[in-house]
Amino acid sequence: MSQPALTNLYDLTRADLRTWLIQRDLNPTHAARLWSYLYLDLVDTFDAMPDLPARVRDRLAAETFIGTLPIAAATDSSDGFTRKYLLSLPDAERIETVLMRFTGRVTACISSQVGCAMGCVFCATGQMGYTRHLSAGEIVAQATHVARALRSNSAPSATVPRERLRNIVLMGMGEPLHNYDAVMRAIDILRDDGGLALAAERITLSTVGVVPGILRLAREKRPLHLAVSLHAATQPERAALVPAARKWPLDELIAACRTYSETTGRRIFYEWTLIDGKNDTPDHARAVGHLLRGLPAQVNLIPLNPTTGYDGAPTRTEAARRFQKILADEFALPSTVRQRRGIDIAAGCGQLAATR
Ligand code: SAH
Ligand code: SF4
Repeated sequence: MSQPALTNLYDLTRADLRTWLIQRDLNPTHAARLWSYLYLDLVDTFDAMPDLPARVRDRLAAETFIGTLPIAAATDSSDGFTRKYLLSLPDAERIETVLMRFTGRVTACISSQVGCAMGCVFCATGQMGYTRHLSAGEIVAQATHVARALRSNSAPSATVPRERLRNIVLMGMGEPLHNYDAVMRAIDILRDDGGLALAAERITLSTVGVVPGILRLAREKRPLHLAVSLHAATQPERAALVPAARKWPLDELIAACRTYSETTGRRIFYEWTLIDGKNDTPDHARAVGHLLRGLPAQVNLIPLNPTTGYDGAPTRTEAARRFQKILADEFALPSTVRQRRGIDIAAGCGQLAATR
């Protein structure tokens, strides 16, 4: 008979842990201490849990594991703010996770899939295709990895000692709403106030525009920030950049965004990768302004980062400013231009890819 698979503790919520203990006639109150070992002390072995009775530890060691992900490579950007980790998964697949530090703000950019099925033409992850979803535990492990790196002070710009991980952006490899259940379970674990205790206002999920996922987020009133990747304000232009737009057309996407904002009372961030001559003219800016009229919105402009599979140039600073000015002056629409970070190590938006 084959052995039952070991349970990854990072897959379990605190309530699951209590159930796991009860099912084995162990005292469920141990869940609290176990949780703090996992997410406050960030330990990665059962030997480092001396406060738990030996029979609890033995049972854990026999049936579970702590799913930390080994570092296959770590690269620092010359910008001094960005470090990229290549992490190994148990099946030898690999993912990338990015640690960014700007203006006193520490952010982990986390992946939700190996590759991506959505095929956006300018995105390195899309260019590599889809391999598989990440489990909740593999998503959580990226956050504990970054939290551990910050604690050990091995992160870039290590001037502030023992910093805590405060911000998470689900903007790494993959489409998070294509892997909805695992992503939401991971977020629940990351938010648990006895552990990493990430505040809902500090978690941002970026989607290519998976309409059923956006409506489900609205129904479930998930506390997080939502970013929607728009890139174009007409259906044909958008479908040329974002093939997923053929499945979820622009009018349906905007209707879903409206429902989301009305149901949750939340503003949405609309992301717009600025490509020279393609979607950065004053007419494009006006088209976005009209499209988002009446919606609680902020536009995040991301000058195109280079990838091997796409032949386009980033919008120049002047044109980006002009775009912003039109949004502000003619539509009272706030916008930001994303600072370019980690481009030299391919850690910028849309540059993450990993091979075995
Ligand atoms: N799958 C999600 C999240 C990951 S990508 C999504 O698509 O929203 C995070 C952001 O980077 C998205 O807005 C995406 O469109 C953008 N992006 C992808 N490739 C890029 C590139 N080469 N340059 C700049 N931004 C890019
Ligand atoms: Fe996938 Fe997002 Fe890249 Fe599109 S931009 S291919 S949805 S990761």
